[in-house]
Amino acid sequence: MSAFRRDYITKPIFRWARQVLPSLSETEREAIEAGDVWWDAALFTGNPDWEELLAFPHAILSQEEEAFLDGPVEELCHMVNDWQINWELLDLPPEVWDFLKAHKFFAMIIPKQYGGLGFSAYAHSEVIRKLSTRSICTAVTAMVPNSLGPGELLHQFGTKAQQDYWLPRLAAAKEIPCFGLTSPEAGSDAASMIDSGVVCRGTWEGREVLGIKLNWHKRYITLGPIATVLGLAFKLHDPDHLIGDKDDIGITVALVPTNLPGVEIGRRHLPAFNSFQNGPTWGRDVFIPIDNVIGGVAQVGKGWKMLMSALAAGRGISLPSLSAAGAAFAAHTTGAYARIRQQFHVPIGKFEAIQERLGRMAATAYLIDAARRLTCAAIDNGHKPAVITAIMKEQATERLRVVTNDAMDVHGGKAIQEGPLNYLGSGYRAVPIGITVEGANIVTRSLIQFGQGAIRCHPYLLKEITALEDPDRGQGLAQFDKAFWGHVGHSIANAFRALVRTWTGGEFAPAPDAGDVRGYYKALGRYASAFALAVDMALLSLGGGLKRQEMVSARFGDILSELYLLSAVLKRWQDEGRQFADRPLVEWCMEAGFATIETRLDEILRNFPVRPVAWMLRFFVLPFGVRRHGPSDRLTQTCAELLLEPSLTRDRLTVDIFRGHGDDGLSRLDRAFEHAVATQLLHDRLRKAHVHDIDKARQQGLINDAEAALLRAEAEAVAAAVAVDDFPAQELSPRRALGDVLSQAINRPRAAE
Ligand SMILES: Cc1cc2nc3c(=O)[nH]c(=O)nc-3n(C[C@H](O)[C@H](O)[C@H](O)COP(=O)(O)OP(=O)(O)OC[C@H]3O[C@@H](n4cnc5c(N)ncnc54)[C@H](O)[C@@H]3O)c2cc1C
Repeated sequence: MSAFRRDYITKPIFRWARQVLPSLSETEREAIEAGDVWWDAALFTGNPDWEELLAFPHAILSQEEEAFLDGPVEELCHMVNDWQINWELLDLPPEVWDFLKAHKFFAMIIPKQYGGLGFSAYAHSEVIRKLSTRSICTAVTAMVPNSLGPGELLHQFGTKAQQDYWLPRLAAAKEIPCFGLTSPEAGSDAASMIDSGVVCRGTWEGREVLGIKLNWHKRYITLGPIATVLGLAFKLHDPDHLIGDKDDIGITVALVPTNLPGVEIGRRHLPAFNSFQNGPTWGRDVFIPIDNVIGGVAQVGKGWKMLMSALAAGRGISLPSLSAAGAAFAAHTTGAYARIRQQFHVPIGKFEAIQERLGRMAATAYLIDAARRLTCAAIDNGHKPAVITAIMKEQATERLRVVTNDAMDVHGGKAIQEGPLNYLGSGYRAVPIGITVEGANIVTRSLIQFGQGAIRCHPYLLKEITALEDPDRGQGLAQFDKAFWGHVGHSIANAFRALVRTWTGGEFAPAPDAGDVRGYYKALGRYASAFALAVDMALLSLGGGLKRQEMVSARFGDILSELYLLSAVLKRWQDEGRQFADRPLVEWCMEAGFATIETRLDEILRNFPVRPVAWMLRFFVLPFGVRRHGPSDRLTQTCAELLLEPSLTRDRLTVDIFRGHGDDGLSRLDRAFEHAVATQLLHDRLRKAHVHDIDKARQQGLINDAEAALLRAEAEAVAAAVAVDDFPAQELSPRRALGDVLSQAINRPRAAE
């Protein structure tokens, strides 16, 4: 029977599938094979096992990691001042550089045996998170050597000799690393770079050795202007066949000491007025020994795979941590500001339109941090979930953009006027940087999350594609036969599941014993099966064309993202002991997420090019159209109130964010908030009597002397918190204008030379 099935049924399908299923370029295959799959694959089955998720160990810190956060990280936060860094020094102060090096902030991911801190992903993330709430520039500076770059690549792929030499030097900050992939012609399509290396013989430390002559022009390189060692990605050629029989070997990564003749570094970009070190670098006929290729000759041509593999985990830490910090900070400050700032004799946080923003901010802060913790836990448990980390990078930074805008809008002029008292300005300017780096969000959303995710996470698709590409057609056919019929069974099961769950509102979907949020698991189970069925139908009807339908792909990516993020919310709720007071935040996230999922499904169906498939699919997954419309106004208001009052929920949302230093803007705000809370009853009394003046209230006997003093102290604290900076006119005069200061600090723009 199986031979009959293979030869008479599968074979014609095999031939047809070779035409329609997406084929993979080498770089795509390397990207897809990088890392692994985890909860994303469970979601793709259409029937995720919730018990498995809930049993997954949650992220925790060791005592040593906690001590680092309470010690050096806290101390560093007190040392830095973003205003001074961004507008006065255009760099970190020398003592901050020394502190970063001495306390091994650049060596969080380097194992202890090489002198590094050997921190978990979660600890690394917590450090970045806390630093980000004080100084984005400091956080980015600490972040970069710990993300994709020489440290990570040497650790994963370096030879023993390379690890023994370089890792202790990096750990001790005797070397400052940077990583050069992006060039003017090759941004998102980094694999199209024209930076080149040619295998040749040359002189190295007085001896003739086999090596590589490099020519490059990279740009946007963080830490580039001050790096002592550049991890360089280039295309390697071997025209004289000195290391093999191929002319073009492919993308290769090597370490280039920046003091070599021909290396040009030092010029700086100015990324959205955040003054971390970032700039271009050039190399002209720079010779390095072949031993400087990371991993040695065995790894030539494998650079893309190495980069994708390193990115698979790293992308889930740096920017999600920065985003979680930004969202928590925005929620904390905006809640406090909305409480202390009165207009029309009412705290602005009491206006519904402000509450609309506050509610979203509170729930978003809860969600991003839930997903950050879950992702770190996965990495710490040995996973390198490439699709999940792409989801995290894109979703966390996009949501940060929304809540940062909310924070700016609620603060009004207070957040717009720049100066040392402005605690939101540099975060606002940094948002587009997070959106752009480590895979610009548009391309991540529309190509990577779903495009690569579908192939990577689908239980059968990659097996089918691999079988179709097998040059041995007999073996390919046998493999395809197995995968294809497995796929058919999976699709039928999913179609049935999706139909039943859709038409019963998820009633029969499995759910763990999770108290009164059980229904959310059922709803997620319903959407997961709808997603899995829709994916199969899209692949079947659009095949390789799906990859070009970026709008459809992006919407599938959004659904997968929501499924992951909402899973993380439920996991957080469970891990934190089902805190009843946080329940509105969980509910808000769920309602908003379900509305997005249904809307995206609806958009997919409306725009699906093969109409009969769309009609059929609608019957299975969304027969009554979009039924979930997001959180109710009442729920949003409840979430908003959580930011306007001190509470354990507010503390949990903003745990471990830096709380200000001396008389800075944040300290002023927190002080005013405490005063406002303490005087609330007095304000209520005055409001009832329609008296808004303290003296008048005292004269009328509405308050006693002590109460009047409390109200005066509050008014003073609020005035200090609401104050913005102003400068002597001559300091902002054209002579002292920023361009002047910058051109002295950074040299003339190259274009003007
Ligand atoms: C401040 C900063 C620091 C950086 N640090 C480093 C570093 O240290 N090392 C390093 O190597 N690089 C670094 N980069 C580069 C960064 O990681 C991005 O890869 C790079 O900026 C993207 O290229 P681009 O800006 O030229 O955008 P482009 O590639 O020109 O893209 C422009 C837009 O087109 C979209 N797009 C591109 N292709 C597609 C497609 N197929 N479908 C849909 N949309 C598409 C992108 O999403 C983007 O929105 C840095 C960049 C910045 C801004």
